[in-house]
Amino acid sequence: MNDIAANLAAIHERIAAACDRAGRNPEEVRLIAVSKVKPAALVEEAFASGQLMFGESYVQEFRDKAPLVQAPVEWHFIGGLQKNKVKYLRGQVAMIHSVDRLALAEEINRQWQKIGSRIKILLQVNIGDETSKAGCAVEDLESRVRAIAELPNLQICGLMCLPPYSTDPEEVRPYFRQLRELAEQIKRLALPGVAMAELSMGMSGDFEVAVEEGATLVRIGTAIFGERIKKN
Ligand SMILES: *Cc1c(COP(=O)(O)O)cnc(C)c1O
Repeated sequence: MNDIAANLAAIHERIAAACDRAGRNPEEVRLIAVSKVKPAALVEEAFASGQLMFGESYVQEFRDKAPLVQAPVEWHFIGGLQKNKVKYLRGQVAMIHSVDRLALAEEINRQWQKIGSRIKILLQVNIGDETSKAGCAVEDLESRVRAIAELPNLQICGLMCLPPYSTDPEEVRPYFRQLRELAEQIKRLALPGVAMAELSMGMSGDFEVAVEEGATLVRIGTAIFGERIKKN
């Protein structure tokens, strides 16, 4: 089975159609291929088809896989992150999408300080207020952004969410819209060093709706690489 190129092309077409419906420029939307649980060879294959950005969710798996990928891909870390594992991402990823608490942000700051560089981050928001999910509570977002913005080796670029699961993307639309509105509110505060240029939202089942609601980064795994057997 070698249909990664075809899957990527189909997704780009669907993104373009969603942009068309929403009056957006498709260049504002970038595709992150979520390669968790998939081998390095498939990352290489997607890269050969023009895919540059890849998302990983598990630190240990990322540590094992990244050295096996020869292509100059751009890695994004999108999964739950414990402080004691941040060091393994240091200098290896372009952006961390899943920052939700100050202690974690401080550790990321400390690690990137060691290499004298700055890492782009997104604040993950628990948009559905689900006890099972990570993410900053909506009511804490502004104070959390203000605190994290003080850290010199982090650059806040926007927000990320994993909305409540539904098989009907229309049920998820209000959450995507709310994330965009939260980003607009934060933007109006005009905090130094805080940009709200990125909205990381939308997965295989709902990315078109996310794009219609303003996503700039969509994180898509299954629709590119097929079903995942292990983990989730
Ligand atoms: C696995 C994962 C995705 C991709 O999910 P698909 O439904 O396979 O497209 C996106 N975002 C996060 C945070 C994930 O963990």
